[in-house]
Amino acid sequence: MKRVLITGAAGFLGSHLCDRFLREGYHVIGMDNLITGNLDNIEHLFSEKNFEFYNHDVTKFVHVSGELDYILHFASPASPIDYLKIPIQTLKVGAMGTHNLLGLAKAKNARILVASTSEVYGDPQVHPQTEDYWGHVNPVGPRGVYDEAKRYLEAITMAYHTYHGLETRIVRIFNTYGPRMRLNDGRVLPAFVGQALRGEDLTVFGDGSQTRSFCYVDDLVEGIYRLLMSDYAKPVNVGNPSEISIADFAEEIIKLTGTTNKVIYKDLPKDDPMQRQPDITKAREILGWEPKVDRSEGLKRTYDYFKSLPEEKLYKKEH
Ligand code: NAD
Ligand code: UDP
Repeated sequence: MKRVLITGAAGFLGSHLCDRFLREGYHVIGMDNLITGNLDNIEHLFSEKNFEFYNHDVTKFVHVSGELDYILHFASPASPIDYLKIPIQTLKVGAMGTHNLLGLAKAKNARILVASTSEVYGDPQVHPQTEDYWGHVNPVGPRGVYDEAKRYLEAITMAYHTYHGLETRIVRIFNTYGPRMRLNDGRVLPAFVGQALRGEDLTVFGDGSQTRSFCYVDDLVEGIYRLLMSDYAKPVNVGNPSEISIADFAEEIIKLTGTTNKVIYKDLPKDDPMQRQPDITKAREILGWEPKVDRSEGLKRTYDYFKSLPEEKLYKKEH
């Protein structure tokens, strides 16, 4: 039986990856220090004989007994309010955490896939973003702690590939959504849905003309699985190219939830990217992948999940 280590396992994406690899017949070792994740996301896995969980901070030396075939490194705060609250930990998990996992992959002769992000493109001046665009990042701005941590993650991963011959994969993930996002994580979808469910106005930052392109989690997981199994070591964008302004997105959430509350406008956070859309030509050509779930279907599934949560989660301010 093949063995895979998934870091960030108690988070949104990590928990869905654990589900997928268990379904594919792997022995899954989940690792997380629960700084932004929650055991509720993987509670259903504790009875599975092929699942183990290590509560561990990956910025500290990482030890796993036995063989490993694959490592998926997803540990990192991911939402702007999380990484602004814990900036040093964000830099450390991207730098020291990634270094530890690359060292582990080398020791175990395992293939490693690391989670990068569309944030490596910063506030992009090329649209849509292709993998050969180098980006437009403010290293000393508020988002620099996340963007630069991820740029370092890519650089050190490529160095292990080039200098040690390690089998590495780099996925550049664009805004992904779905069940198990934290309602209070500040990202736009849980923010709007939480506001609608609590009967509050929806807070659009800036004039709402900035764009994002939202990918449903099942599509992302499929893209990651295919990339891991491919022989392609350079970064690959995985995201849904369907682009929408944040103002229009707020209207979609208002329709979906049937809320009678309105949109209010707040200041745009510093360095908030004005437009973002993945060019997925590479994913199409190399992985034979493209998204299958359109936004109306994905939003419906996600809203059903949020509606099913106990009421106290709706009003929980802090993680
Ligand atoms: P998340 O916050 O839900 O999950 C991250 C998990 O990592 C959490 O469970 C957290 O406790 C854990 N973690 C953080 N620091 C750790 C450490 N030092 N040691 C061990 N565990 C640690 O976020 P997510 O949305 O699931 O994101 C997962 C990964 O995907 C991140 O690396 C993120 O940068 C990347 N990503 C996500 C998106 C997205 O749209 N969701 C987009 C681009 C990139
Ligand atoms: N946003 C917003 N209202 C909110 C939360 C976010 O208008 O309550 C905006 C935010 O300024 C950004 C977009 O929605 O332009 C996406 O934000 P998110 O934090 O989800 O992702 P990221 O900026 O990292 O892509």
